[in-house]
Amino acid sequence: MQADLQLFQQIAEQLIAAEENQPVTPIVPPEQLYQQLDLALNDEPADSEGYEKALTDLILNTPKTTSKAFFNQLFGGRNGKAVVGELLSVLLNNSMYTYKVAGPMVGVEKVIINKIKSLLGYPSTAEGTLAAGGSMTNFMGMLMARDRFDAEIRQKGVQQTLIAYTSKEAHYSVPKNAAFIGVGRQNVRYIESNEKGEMLVSDLVAQIEKDLIAGYSPFFVNATAGTTVLGAFDPIDAIADVCQLYGLWLHVDGAYCGSVMFSDKYKHLIKGAHRADSFSLNAHKMLSTPLSCSIILSKEKKHLYDSFSNDASYLYQADGDELNTGKISFQCGRRNDALKFWTLWKAIGTKGLTQMVEHEFALAEHGRQYVLKHPDYEVYSHENSIAVCFNYKGIDAKKLCTLLYEKGKLVVGYGSFRGTTFIRLVTVNAGNEQVDIDNFFKTLEDFVQEYWEELFT
Ligand SMILES: *Cc1c(COP(=O)(O)O)cnc(C)c1O
Repeated sequence: MQADLQLFQQIAEQLIAAEENQPVTPIVPPEQLYQQLDLALNDEPADSEGYEKALTDLILNTPKTTSKAFFNQLFGGRNGKAVVGELLSVLLNNSMYTYKVAGPMVGVEKVIINKIKSLLGYPSTAEGTLAAGGSMTNFMGMLMARDRFDAEIRQKGVQQTLIAYTSKEAHYSVPKNAAFIGVGRQNVRYIESNEKGEMLVSDLVAQIEKDLIAGYSPFFVNATAGTTVLGAFDPIDAIADVCQLYGLWLHVDGAYCGSVMFSDKYKHLIKGAHRADSFSLNAHKMLSTPLSCSIILSKEKKHLYDSFSNDASYLYQADGDELNTGKISFQCGRRNDALKFWTLWKAIGTKGLTQMVEHEFALAEHGRQYVLKHPDYEVYSHENSIAVCFNYKGIDAKKLCTLLYEKGKLVVGYGSFRGTTFIRLVTVNAGNEQVDIDNFFKTLEDFVQEYWEELFT
């Protein structure tokens, strides 16, 4: 193990140096993948030199999602405090289903859940757990909604036409999960949004009325806190009124920006969240925790038990349900995703997490002000979002993003809203400073000048 740790240290140092020197890893074209890298698995063991080289080459040729030039997805950067927690959880290799094998790690998870409960304004009867990502925590929310609607479904399967509602701007896990839980993709209603990408409550009500008249069974509304493209917030309070009126389960998909709960300045964006039946958030997005760290809370713990507990005498042999967290989780064996968030939180305090969230909004606003002031840019995103969406000099966004990546300059993606495609710069890397955002635009502008002809042919 000692030698393995030394090799780890050695490769880690090379990687960190490479991130500085070459923030965008040159592409390994798929057709060269197996020639350029030694990926083959052989009957004979690799000699230690060959093993070291194969591993080092592999690591150094992998896209660098932690560098200052990565703006492509809704995660980024690296926080050392969180990384140490993650490495230690791998060393310990616990499984989070029972107190017997997870011990105090159950407490780590509970402390996080309890803090988030109180930040959300949830009652003491709330409960939560972690799962392998936002798609899965959203799944758990929708499943609890289904089982509350009709407890028999767990035994008999879905008999009625259940209808779920979400906005057109919601994450694609909503229709996927509807298929998984037996509701069906065609029974998801996509509600219109306004020009900022926020769900139109009047359209929601009209759609529910239509479905009731048709004899269908509305059961679930998904509100998004931070839509994937524009970073918009659905009006949770108004949606909660509708859910209350019609007796529907309200789930808030806060995978992207539910973390605004940490900021007094921005938590108004999820006003009414305490009224939601369930709420999910990804600490691996705005909160600089390594992938993945996704949390789901249910306002009443009963629903987590009703949908997810299963007796297993070979597993639950000691301690009560409170401590045997396997009784409320989707998985059986479950990795410890809580420790890395805890090490970060412990080290920087709740105030540190607040700063992180506010810093990301400030970076986005800095970028947005820049593009608003420059006539060569067209701007599509709004304030109170950590996405800056724009086009530059009328250049096709897809073409520009692809070329920037192929030439090893910047890794940034594009998105669409109401038929227009644009570049989406996400300021989700809390390690970035304003100068990194300035550099982004400078790099982009210089690049366009240099590759003008290629971009227009
Ligand atoms: C990222 C995201 C998800 C999915 O989370 P994963 O952890 O990637 O599965 C769901 N909803 C929204 C709004 C997201 O931004």
